[in-house]
Amino acid sequence: MKKIAELFSGKAKTIYTTEDADKLVMLFRNDTSAFDGERIEQLDRKGMVNNKFNAFIMQRLAEAGIPVHFEALLSDNESLVKRMEMIPVECVVRNYAAGSLCRRLGVEEGLELTPPVFEFFLKNDELHDPMINEFHIRSFGWAEESELKQMQALSFKVNSILTQLFANAGMLLVDYKLEFGRFHGDIILGDEFSPDGCRLWDAKTQEKLDKDRFRQGLGGVVEAYEAVAHRIGVELD
Ligand code: UDP
Repeated sequence: MKKIAELFSGKAKTIYTTEDADKLVMLFRNDTSAFDGERIEQLDRKGMVNNKFNAFIMQRLAEAGIPVHFEALLSDNESLVKRMEMIPVECVVRNYAAGSLCRRLGVEEGLELTPPVFEFFLKNDELHDPMINEFHIRSFGWAEESELKQMQALSFKVNSILTQLFANAGMLLVDYKLEFGRFHGDIILGDEFSPDGCRLWDAKTQEKLDKDRFRQGLGGVVEAYEAVAHRIGVELD
């Protein structure tokens, strides 16, 4: 499928139209951003690793019955996806306390959350992705009640599939962010699932294997992503 025109360029991916009105090409760049785009760096191989990581995870989710926009890997850095109407809301599921939850509620990093916590954020860098609830989403018309319920149910279904997948490889899925959209009337999972949008810790050593390595200047960012990919069986080269 050939790229025709650039439709949108975000912090780490560029989206292109194709000759099929229902399909887009998603290009994973090496750009890595943190703090709502305030810090951006190029990390060699990251685009390729995230593209293949995302393809692997989306295929596992699709096999388990989650509707996803991912269709096929096209090249090292590109995937074919369904063209959806994005819902400007981020769905976060947390199994252990980390990041903004610790800052907001003063809880210690690593606290196990039973049951897991679910949160909505508005996708808006200028406003620093503020936390919102179902009432804001319905009142401002970002999504309907039935769509919210589906997003939440799908986010928890993803949690049971992926906590198991990472646990089998000796890792804790601490938290992650999902984005959904509409495709011919259905809610489907969009965007990506990669170590850029989740937290993963080694179950034994608690070593951080995700974008916190970049946010916290720990180094070895792509090396950690590659190690996670290797542990869950993603083929990179
Ligand atoms: N996350 C993301 N994009 C965002 C905000 C958060 O992918 O714009 C992911 C983040 O990597 C983590 C989870 O969502 O896995 C929860 O993030 P948190 O609210 O703790 O915010 P942060 O500490 O990243 O600012």
